[in-house]
Amino acid sequence: MSILRADLPRWRHSKRIDSDGTPGSYEVADTPEGRFGGESSEYRRLGPVNGFFAHRSDGLWCEGVRVADLASAHGTPVYIYSQGALEWRLNRIQKAFAGLQPLVCYSIKANGNLSLLRILAEHGSGFDIVSGGELYRVLKAGADPDKVVYAGVGKSAKEIREAIQAGIFQFNVESPSELKAIDRLAGELGARVRVALRLNPDVDARTHAKTTTAKKETKFGIPLDEAHDLFAGRGSFPNVDLNGVHLHLGSPIYTVEPYRVALAKMADFIPRVRQTGAVVETLNMGGGYCISYDGREVITPFDYADVIVPAVRELNCRLILEPGRYIVGNAAILVARVLYLKEGWAGRRFVICDAAMNDLLRPALYEAYHHIWPLEGPPSPVFFQGSGNHLKKVDVVGPICESSDVFARDRELPSLEEGDLLAVFSAGAYGLSMSSNYNGRLRPPEVLVAGDESRVIRKRETYQDLVRGEV
Ligand code: PLP
Repeated sequence: MSILRADLPRWRHSKRIDSDGTPGSYEVADTPEGRFGGESSEYRRLGPVNGFFAHRSDGLWCEGVRVADLASAHGTPVYIYSQGALEWRLNRIQKAFAGLQPLVCYSIKANGNLSLLRILAEHGSGFDIVSGGELYRVLKAGADPDKVVYAGVGKSAKEIREAIQAGIFQFNVESPSELKAIDRLAGELGARVRVALRLNPDVDARTHAKTTTAKKETKFGIPLDEAHDLFAGRGSFPNVDLNGVHLHLGSPIYTVEPYRVALAKMADFIPRVRQTGAVVETLNMGGGYCISYDGREVITPFDYADVIVPAVRELNCRLILEPGRYIVGNAAILVARVLYLKEGWAGRRFVICDAAMNDLLRPALYEAYHHIWPLEGPPSPVFFQGSGNHLKKVDVVGPICESSDVFARDRELPSLEEGDLLAVFSAGAYGLSMSSNYNGRLRPPEVLVAGDESRVIRKRETYQDLVRGEV
């Protein structure tokens, strides 16, 4: 690490962090309710640097393990997860909504690693799945099928059969044709299945165009009037208990407003449906609960709960939630090593690292911001006081042959040297789960830290893995 020490501001820990100068240290992580307590700590813990990932004088730590040591042991790029963060986040959701005893179904598309699923299942989580492959994962992780809900606009007959045979809790059905197919397949198997209709409430959650899911023009859900008619005509589906409503408004959602608007629509829709004699037992509010990617304060599960809990209580429904990003997003980082430094035209500086868009697609796909900072040296002025005047603008890029293989453009970072290690924060959700072998690249390993212990929960791929299944 080649920070020119003379260039640096004095490394002062913000009072915001901790009075004894150990910002988010392991001791703090160990007792999340402990020393910080109160509302402001809630906000802080939602950020990328959050007590489970904390800078100390000898670099970045994940709980009780120095991240640079993990990078040496496992190579780079490597995903590092904090078990404490994962458990803490599930607990926050459970606590915030405790008044309604919801069924929390972690959305495994965010990250389906079996070890993470096992931990969440042990702490009472159910699961939201969208494919036969995700069903296979949750069953392999030992999940209780009675806590599994299944969404997705294009479930195949094979996938539907497998889910019926597994005895999942509920299908979230996205079209009349799918409802017919599920009814027919349940009949063939001599089963009765629980179904919620996923509605398209035409609510704008003001998310990125590619993660907007509840507006009229999207493929998701069923328009309200059509859904009403399906409830009214439920007798045509003798093998189905049509008794729930499902919404998923988009992701990530930074205000409670979209939930408020959607619930106002439900306050009209559900009683209308009930007037037909239909039973609406469950109301599934989906996911979309935000995290802070850049250190700014964001709303917490308690803010969402303030809006959702009274409205769902009023509707007398059992609440289901499908958080993905909130639980795992800030529970992991991706660690990369700087391969080369390069200057382009007009002095443009490129930091070429060994992680790429195949490992973490979000910046390329959604222009998503991820905080990036060297593992060693002073912590980022984004989270700690410091002038930041030693920083230089660089583009952090990967080795893939695509112009979109850029993690950050014009990002202010300290001077770097080839060989330095970088942390890409908030990488737990839609990180490895969206990864690929593009450009013949091997998917990185995943390492889970719990206290001062770590273990590999997914091995680095090999060249043999790249051609497995090919003839
Ligand atoms: N539920 C459904 C139906 C989804 O499509 C998604 C994400 O796309 C989620 C839940 C999870 O969303 P998030 O990770 O933002 O909580």
